[in-house]
Order: sequence, then structure tokens, then C-alpha cells
Amino acid sequence: MTPLEARDLAVKASHALAAAGQGDMVWGHAAVRDPDGRGMWIKAPGWGLGEVREDRLQLVSFEADVLEGEGTPHKECHIHLEVLRAQPQTVCSVHTHAPDAVAFAALDVPLLAVSHEGALFGGEDVPRFRDTGGLVSTPELGKALAAALGDAPAALMPKHGLVAAGHSVPTAVMHAVLLGRACRTQLTALSAGGVRTHSDADEARAKRAECWPDSQLEAGWGYLLRLAATSRAA
Ligand SMILES: [Zn+2]
Repeated sequence: MTPLEARDLAVKASHALAAAGQGDMVWGHAAVRDPDGRGMWIKAPGWGLGEVREDRLQLVSFEADVLEGEGTPHKECHIHLEVLRAQPQTVCSVHTHAPDAVAFAALDVPLLAVSHEGALFGGEDVPRFRDTGGLVSTPELGKALAAALGDAPAALMPKHGLVAAGHSVPTAVMHAVLLGRACRTQLTALSAGGVRTHSDADEARAKRAECWPDSQLEAGWGYLLRLAATSRAA
């Protein structure tokens, strides 16, 4: 990947998340690791995910300095900086305030493999970052969040949102989208009377491999990009 490609993918990641309904007005962001090791590409504050363009991006260093682009960095840039610092294999991280994730986290019940999306975690509960429900606005909080996420595809941030990561931009974005959908499906079942059947750990592990190989995650990403382009053209 070149820096130009990283910039392009940072724009596309933002648009895909918006198309999937993970936007929260101007809050939430996706960050793409700079291939030259200078930090990450992320939208500048003040823009919604669907409004991101290449000239609305920042290159933010691991010291949280803006090296290219306008303005100050997002207060929560430390989420991405510390996830990318902790995980050399991670290319992209996502943080959104997806309402389904926030509502589900408020119930404080395990995430079950109710659907294909729920099998993303292979029968394990989704990790949760519980140190604060406020902004992840310091390197220390970012490090704690990265530790809570570990090598999981995504984690819930109760009272706040979600964080996701991936070894590519499509996988990171889709991990965020699938967690949001898994939360919504389980919430729907709970509100209709409760979950009476779901995949056990063995089936969930098998479904994770069957349903969510990179090729399928990339197919979902491609769909979201087409959906985003259609909505922009409308
Ligand atoms: Zn946030």
C-alpha cells in the first residue's frame, strides 16, 4: 500500500461506515495506518463520515501531532494510535457510536451467536472496555482500550460505542458493521421475549470460518461502497 492508497482507503472506510448506519453526526472515525510509518490517516474533526474527502483527512503522528491536513486531531485519536501501536499487524481501526452497540452494551449480557454476525466472535463473548464511559482522550486510556480489544475483531465500549480492528481496511470496517448488526439482532430477540436458540461454541467457531473469511468480508465492503456511491449520486 502507498500513502495515496491509504488516503483513498481512509475516505472509503468512512463512507462504508456511513452507508452501514454507523454514523453519529460528526462523531466516530476510521483510521488507516500510514504505510511509511508516520502515523495514521483519519478524517479531520467536524465532518460526518459520509462527508469525508481526501482534503478533509489528517495524517496524525503516534505523538498525536497533525503532520498533514487542517486543525487539531480528534480528542479520541488515542483509540486508533494505541490500537495501531499495540498491534503491528493491524492496518485499520474503527471507532463509532453505533446506537445498537450502545443499547446492547447497556444490558450487560453476553453476546450470543444468534445470527451469522454473532458468530464473528466464534462462540466467545465480545470483549468490553470498562475503564471509562467517557472519551478515550489520553494515551493511557487508549492503551487500556487496546488491551481490552486484544486480538479480537471488535469490542464494545459500554456507555459509548464500539472499537474494531483488522489486518485490512475492509476487514476492520466489516468487523464494526457486523458487531453492530449482531447487537441489533440480539436486541430484537430479547425485546420479543428472549433468546431461546443460538449457535453453541462449536457451531459458532465453524460459522466464523464459513461465513466470515476475508473474501466474504471484502464482498460486504464492496456492497457498502456501492451503496455509499448510490446515496451520494441520489
Ligand atoms: Zn467516541
